[in-house]
Order: sequence, then structure tokens, then C-alpha cells
Amino acid sequence: MFAEMKGINEECGVFGIWGHEKAAELTYYGLHSMQHRGQEGAGVVVSDGQELKTHKGLGLVNDVFKQTRFNALSGERAIGHVRYSTQGGKTYENVQPLLFRSQTEDMALAHNGNIMNTDKLRGELENQGSILQTSSDTEVLAHLIKRGGMGINETSIADALNRITGAYAYLILTEEKMYAALDPSGIRPLSIGRLGASYVIASETCAFDQIGAVFEREVLPGELVTFSDGGITSIRFAMRGQRKMCAMEYVYLSRPDSDVNQVNIHASRKRMGIELAKESPADADIVIGVPDSSISAAIGYAEATGLPYEMGIIKNRYVGRTFIQPSQELREQGVKLKLAPVRGIVSGKRIIMIDDSIVRGTTCKRIVHMLKQAGAAEVHVRIASPSIQHPCYYGIDMSTREELIAANYSLDEIGELIGAESVAYLSEAGLEKAIVREKTIHQGICTACMTGHYPVTENRQQVMAHEVQLPSVGDSAHRKS
Ligand code: AMP
Repeated sequence: MFAEMKGINEECGVFGIWGHEKAAELTYYGLHSMQHRGQEGAGVVVSDGQELKTHKGLGLVNDVFKQTRFNALSGERAIGHVRYSTQGGKTYENVQPLLFRSQTEDMALAHNGNIMNTDKLRGELENQGSILQTSSDTEVLAHLIKRGGMGINETSIADALNRITGAYAYLILTEEKMYAALDPSGIRPLSIGRLGASYVIASETCAFDQIGAVFEREVLPGELVTFSDGGITSIRFAMRGQRKMCAMEYVYLSRPDSDVNQVNIHASRKRMGIELAKESPADADIVIGVPDSSISAAIGYAEATGLPYEMGIIKNRYVGRTFIQPSQELREQGVKLKLAPVRGIVSGKRIIMIDDSIVRGTTCKRIVHMLKQAGAAEVHVRIASPSIQHPCYYGIDMSTREELIAANYSLDEIGELIGAESVAYLSEAGLEKAIVREKTIHQGICTACMTGHYPVTENRQQVMAHEVQLPSVGDSAHRKS
């Protein structure tokens, strides 16, 4: 269906705030809480209603803002971004938000997701004389917005969004307004919160808790929300039947204290562990989880089986996510630096080791080896998600099929390769049961990387808002009192 590709995927986190005198500083705190979504670069653009000012850099949020005097970033509106990309895109100019100056109006953009028809749009823009500075998708949207010559407003943004295909959560800041847009299938997370009279918006609700804001509502699929001094208004620029929130947000990406699409991450992971225990029990003495993302599922698995949950592996908190290392050799070294077995706990035991997912198989293989070296009698690997066999085109770094272990080996072969006594994955039905709750019942999840069923393809046209009967968003659009 798609050509195999290894482009710039952007897992990333976005944050925005409207109407707070400490907008830049609160953005810093919000980004800090979403550091797990990207460690390659961070930035903020702030507006005082007259001018857009920016501060950004490569590295962790703390490093980027270490010397920052927030007084110099005065203004009541801001957007921010933490960036994670695969190889090829690690340059300063790709760090977001991207800021575009023009004679009439400046604009800043921050983006989480992946645009699938970038190459085509890039080609069109270049043929028409546009000169693009970055290799990021985000710049393409900025050109599309400006190209019609209508200025930056709801209409020009909606028109531009209707030309792009993919999964995205966008924040756009001008001197006068802030806009937030979510793709028509709602694949990426984006929530709105309130902090007193101010509005906040973030990829994850943990950013709201960080600054004392309260969750107000989700941005809806295909919705464009406008924040201005008059309050917030919204239009639906496009939509597709069911929401398809990315399942990997629940499995791995988001923080346990966040609610994504109103479902708590820790609780959903725990349910994944419970379902996994029902589907794939094993004779064992203890249950352990790979820190940090598998702990919740391991607790659930232990609870459901009645086996003791133990801390069999500890994590060195000062080593970043191993997945991020650009080469296999570095990744393997990274796993060794990051994780260590608790010998006194695992020695002589039959262990059920829960991991949230297997992508290339590097992590799992290393850990099983490590546990065996520490004296584990048996290691039964249980994965709290279905096997990943297909690349992701929606912003999650799932690489090419060649690199995905489950796309190339049978279950028994995987067991042999990673050196485990047995391996089992959670079923698709089990995953869905763990994630989709009553309050989100009309909304589905995207499991394309597990099933190969892609909810959005490059050729499939978006359904324009005016072609379908759209549910009203009027009820949820607020005016500031
Ligand atoms: P691997 O060693 O390639 O099999 O990586 C699997 C591990 O990376 C899992 O245990 C997850 O915790 C983590 N992981 C899964 N998906 C991703 C992703 N898209 N980006 C970064 N890390 C991931």
C-alpha cells in the first residue's frame, strides 16, 4: 500500500497557553512534563500582541531554557514544542516552534504527527517558487496557509489543512490569535484545559497538572479551535467516521498520569496486563516489569494471576530512551547502561517478564540475557500489546518492515532469538478492551502498526466538513466570561 520509507517521524509534544502573564514560563513547565515525548530539541514562541519572540535549542528542555530570563519573553500567549525525530532531522532549523515572518503578519507553528503527502506538496510549492528552509512537514503547512494571500485566519488554515493527509496536532500562534487543529481521524492526542481565566492546550494532560490547570475537553477530530481575546470558537474543517486515537499512546508513549481521550494511561496499561494474564498465563514464581513503561501492565498481570509483583530490574534514571539511539550498536549499549537486574530477586526464580512492546527486539533480548546471567531459572516474556509488524505513517517511530522483528519471524523464532522460555503477545481484542471505555465507546483506536489496517492513506481524500452532517461543537465552544 505504501512505499517503505524512513522519513522524519515526529512523536513530539505540543503545548499552548492563551491569556496568562507568565505564558512563556508556564510553557516551559508544560514542556518539562512532556519531556518523554521528545528529547532532541525544545522551544517556545511568545506573543505580547505586537510581536512574536522565540527561544529554542537542541537538547533537553532544562538545557535549552537553563539561561533563559523569562522577563525577556514577556507576553500572554505562547506555544511550545518538544521534539523527537528519527535520523536525518536533527538540526537546529528543524527545532520547533517554527517562526515565519512576513510584512503583514508573523506566524509560529508547532506540530506533533506526520504528514504523508509532504513530498507531493513540497514539489508543488517549489514549482510555484517557494523556497523551503527546513526538512520538516511543518513548514509546508505554513506555506499552504500563506499561499492563498487571504492572510492567516480560520478559512486559510482550514483550506491548508484540507490539502494535507496524515496525523497531526497543530498549534499556530499569530500576534492576535492562537489556533489548534487535530487531524480528521483524531490520531494524535490534544486536550484543552483551563487555568483560571486562561486557556491551555497540550498533547498530554500531565502538562495541565504540572501547572495547576484543569482538563476541559478534547479537541475533536477535524476540529480547528481559535483562541482570541473574545474567548474560544471552533469549526469542524473535516471529519471521518470514528476517532482513531493512536494505540501506541496508551501502550508506550504517554505518561501514566495522563488521560488520553479521557482514558487514564496507567489504568489502561494495567488492564492490558490483566487481559494478557487471562490470555497467556505461565507457571512462574514472580512477575516483573521493564521500567518504566511496562510497570503498570506488570502490576495488572500480577494482580490477575495472584503472583507476587517484584522489582526484578532497575533503571538508571540518568540515561535517556534507548530507542532514540541512531544505530543498533549504540542501542544495545544503551540498554546495558540503562537497565540492571536485581540479582537477589531474580536468581533461581521462574520469571514472567512483562514488556509493553517489541519493535526491533533489541531491548527484550538484552533483558532476557541479563536476567539469565543474574541467575533466573526461566524467563517467560509477555508483551502487553499485539505484535508490531507494520510501519507507522502517523508520527510514531516504527521504522521499516525489515527492522520489525515480528514482521520477519514466527513467535517460536522470536522466543529463540530473544532467549526466552516462552513468548506471548496481547491479542488485538484484549488491547481494545483495555483501552476503549464506555465514555469513548463511539471512538476507536488506530492499530495500524499491529494490524496493517491504515485508517488514513495518502490517496484517500479527507471528507470535507461541508459534505457531511457534522455533530455540533457549539456546546463545547466557550466564551470567556
Ligand atoms: P526494541 O528494542 O526495538 O524492540 O524496542 C522496544 C522497546 O522500545 C519497547 O520495550 C518500548 O518500551 C520502546 N518503544 C516502543 N515503541 C517505541 C517508539 N515508537 N519510540 C520509542 N520507543 C519505543
